[in-house]
Amino acid sequence: MGEPVPPGQLGKGGVAAVGEAKAVPTGVAASGSTTPQVGTEVRDQVIDTPTPLDPCADPLLAHQDEDFFNCILELCATDPDIVEAADRDLTLYTRNPKVIELQTFNGSSWETTRRATSLGSARGSTIWVNRGQACSVTKNTIYHEVHHTRQPDSMSSRYKEIDAYLQTEQWLISRGIPGNGRFRTTVGSTEIPNRTAIEAHVDQSYGYSDTTQRIVGRVDEGATVILEDGTQRPAQRGDNYQYIPPQELCERRAPPGRLQCP
Ligand SMILES: [Zn+2]
Repeated sequence: MGEPVPPGQLGKGGVAAVGEAKAVPTGVAASGSTTPQVGTEVRDQVIDTPTPLDPCADPLLAHQDEDFFNCILELCATDPDIVEAADRDLTLYTRNPKVIELQTFNGSSWETTRRATSLGSARGSTIWVNRGQACSVTKNTIYHEVHHTRQPDSMSSRYKEIDAYLQTEQWLISRGIPGNGRFRTTVGSTEIPNRTAIEAHVDQSYGYSDTTQRIVGRVDEGATVILEDGTQRPAQRGDNYQYIPPQELCERRAPPGRLQCP
């Protein structure tokens, strides 16, 4: 699930404005000298600099979004409620694959111990799912994020995550969709979700330093952590934090009605 980034937080395009070079009058006497100033005529060089392209205007993204929608529509045959929920009940955004860094406190500083991709995020009735992934991953993620939106608020955030992985893996097994092999085990001849592996994954990848609360922020240059209930405490050796480095996600809202089962 990762730590969702609200739409627009990272801004659109990431285009740095190209400063207009101001022509500086040349040949102006400085301090009474008649020697022309040098090094002020930069206009030609600025014109030669290519204009930065908006990475979110790349036509590839629109193609990836179409593949994404068509992949989800394959679920109409077996799970029209998931498709309809994504279209009708929820606000769905596609985004570029989101990079996260897992950082661990070593007693004096935070070290990045792992880089990973967050496949999707959910907050309230809004979900974000990466574009450009394999269709089996897209189905896996949409199911996981839609499931999050149906969980009772009374569940702890850690159990919400474990529950989402368990339910999603069971669903993938029942639909014959490949999942993450680590999250499956067999009892006799029956494939079932591997609860032990899923719990370990959630504890290691979501910033749970104990089994109750996630660390959701840091202050005092990392010496103090903020827990999900809003309380703060000093950072402790072994604390984990899911850091989201600055990046351009090119979030796009799915057009309502795009995901309609026949
Ligand atoms: Zn999740």
